[in-house]
Amino acid sequence: MLQISVVIPVYNEEESLPELAEWIGRVMGENGFSYEVIFVNDGSRDNSWEVISMLAQKNGHLKGVGFTRNYGKSAALDIGFQKAKGEVVITMDADLQDSPDEIPGLYYMVTKEGYDIVSGWKKKRHDPIGKTIPSKFFNGVTSMISGIDLHDFNCGLKAYKNKVVKNIHVYGEMHRYIPLIAKWNGFSKIGEKVVEHRPRKYGYTKFGMERFVNGFLDLISVSFVNRYKRKPMHFFGSLGSLSFFSGFIITLWLIFEKIYGLKKGIPVREITEQPTFFLALVALIIGVQLFLTGFLADMMASNNVRKADYNIEQEVNFDA
Ligand code: UDP
Ligand code: MG
Repeated sequence: MLQISVVIPVYNEEESLPELAEWIGRVMGENGFSYEVIFVNDGSRDNSWEVISMLAQKNGHLKGVGFTRNYGKSAALDIGFQKAKGEVVITMDADLQDSPDEIPGLYYMVTKEGYDIVSGWKKKRHDPIGKTIPSKFFNGVTSMISGIDLHDFNCGLKAYKNKVVKNIHVYGEMHRYIPLIAKWNGFSKIGEKVVEHRPRKYGYTKFGMERFVNGFLDLISVSFVNRYKRKPMHFFGSLGSLSFFSGFIITLWLIFEKIYGLKKGIPVREITEQPTFFLALVALIIGVQLFLTGFLADMMASNNVRKADYNIEQEVNFDA
């Protein structure tokens, strides 16, 4: 078995690739690691794929897989994870912001110290302040919600045990939450390593300010989906029952009040003139609807087969 697979998502990074490949090769050689590097071309519009296949022809350790269009970093990592053969899988950005010199340290933390995941921590960042401050806030909230003690969830440089990457599915823009997804899948020995972060040398960042909005929406949905994906009835059903039950109690009360009034000769307003009547009506209807939603969602969840949400266009150096 190979010792290390390096998975690198690539979107318009043609200038960085030769230098990155050379540097990784050097680190691997110095440490005597058996390895592969999987470049995932995420529908680049520049010559990234040409560069990857050229590099791959010269060096059999380098492999490439390319999508038909840009599917995003999560999809790129997902296919890389499926193809990775190494005992330890290391992900790294293509833009030379992450240093390959960190590879041996990460590798030994996984193999010797037994971590399921080791996440890089860009303690000293070389990014504009408009990115670093929101990012601090974002990491604080994520850590609080997930109970995972990390400072830098979205660091591109991470190392995983092979079985971890084979058992998680990264989709949408969930690459920001891989430690959470892993934890929910039972891989809870998660460590952190301070890593060197370098300024971007070529090209420009692919994520703008929308990263923060999307990031928070994803956090809500990742927490929600993971909790209720397989049992949506627990969510909808309990809300539905609550709503139905309150409607039912109000109705009982209205009926009791009316009968009591009639018996004792106390004047009671017409049922339809009482606001609580409409409240009860709405609560009953919403209750039934939530319940049915939960029921349908449950039926869908039980025959939901996982389907890849991307298409592959080219491959190089992967044996059939
Ligand atoms: N990336 C990708 N698909 C995308 C956007 C980015 O594969 O749709 C890759 C990109 O090529 C880089 C990594 O993801 O290797 C991180 O992107 P970037 O450096 O732009 O993000 P930042 O460092 O600014 O967070
Ligand atoms: Mg970057």
